[in-house]
Amino acid sequence: MSATTLDVNHRLLTVSPSDASRDASASGLDDHVATHGALAVPARDDPGWTAAIQRAVSESGLLGRGGAGFPSAIKWDAVRRGGRRPMVVVNAMEGEPASAKDKVLLGCSPHLVLDGAEVAAAVVGASDIVVCVADDAGSTAASVQAAIAERERAGAAGRQISVERPPGRYVSGEESALVEWLNDRQALPTLRIDKSVPLSIGRRPVLVHNAETLSQVALIARHGPEWFRRLGTPEAPGSTLVTVTGAVRSPGVLEVELGTPVGEIVSRAGFVGELSGLLLGGYGGAWLDPSHLSTLYAPGPLRAAGATLGVGIVVALPATSCGIAETARIVRYMAGESAGQCGPCVFGLAAIAEDFELLGSGRGVAGVLERIEGRAAAVDGRGACRHPDGVVRLATTALAVFAEDARAHAQGRPCPGHRAPSVLTFPAATVRGRRAS
Ligand code: SF4
Repeated sequence: MSATTLDVNHRLLTVSPSDASRDASASGLDDHVATHGALAVPARDDPGWTAAIQRAVSESGLLGRGGAGFPSAIKWDAVRRGGRRPMVVVNAMEGEPASAKDKVLLGCSPHLVLDGAEVAAAVVGASDIVVCVADDAGSTAASVQAAIAERERAGAAGRQISVERPPGRYVSGEESALVEWLNDRQALPTLRIDKSVPLSIGRRPVLVHNAETLSQVALIARHGPEWFRRLGTPEAPGSTLVTVTGAVRSPGVLEVELGTPVGEIVSRAGFVGELSGLLLGGYGGAWLDPSHLSTLYAPGPLRAAGATLGVGIVVALPATSCGIAETARIVRYMAGESAGQCGPCVFGLAAIAEDFELLGSGRGVAGVLERIEGRAAAVDGRGACRHPDGVVRLATTALAVFAEDARAHAQGRPCPGHRAPSVLTFPAATVRGRRAS
């Protein structure tokens, strides 16, 4: 995976990942301060500073970069009102197999994420910060550990920062699952009726933020909301990280301005040839047909097109691949990643995966398309978390975008691409586990 630096003031990625792999803390503290400037975060409660930062983040319009797109400032208010001393959790789990942005960000600019965590902790009054990195992402964890040690040596650590290693599974990064694990339970999502009530560790309210969101907070705290809004759209300001894979010469992580046409993003990654479809948002995202290359990469335009920003993934599917066969692989993987708690998710996703595999094989099965659609409708919105909803969106958009191929497959006339090797990435199987004591 490669990374590209956005050639404007929004510089999330300042070191290439190849440099980062030579030295776990490639963007050391001195380089970091030289690039971004110093950031003074008060060690104790400072109402004036807190109010100024809250105002800056609120006026910046920063939306969380972890998938939900929730305004960051609103999350902070809820945690501040939580009573007991809060904790800040940095979610760098990156459970999406097609995503590499947390690895690249924390490999290249770990101090930017830690700065943002310190800012958030100071605002909500937290005394400690936990960075969660999946147990299968050793080099990312090493980069964060090295950065923490460097801050401690330099006397620049305002709060206690530790690294935890939850199991690297798709749903472990869901914020309620992460907090369950930090509470010494299994990393499984919990049903949350009212999401405005903060999660808690013990009885302490906890603020969970995605790593990229915190790196943006660190930049807003330095440069202010007007600077941040110089990029992006009025509704979705700033830049964001996107992992681009598929039919591109240079798959990797790009920093792009929100509102950039999707086609420009895939061109920057070296798109070659003809596309049969675009997967936006990740494996719980949505397929779009290639006519959407002109759609702007921002939450509103993507929503209008039936897609989602999700966790910042664009997969360019070449015309030589089969969208139905690729979807069958993703659905099978996602069914295996069900946390096994909710019947519609466990049984429904397994049944959809089986039907999609039959469809992908092109053997011709009467009624398979109607069966997938019926099962998708029965599963949608029926889980404790949104895992099954993402699979339903992926499956139903595949049937719409690759409709002609789907009908031909169902009639026993598979497209030539159904035997082509997959352009997608899947991790090795992992075992669900409890937090090590
Ligand atoms: S919906 Fe699925 S993944 Fe989510 S909690 Fe229920 S069983 Fe687990």
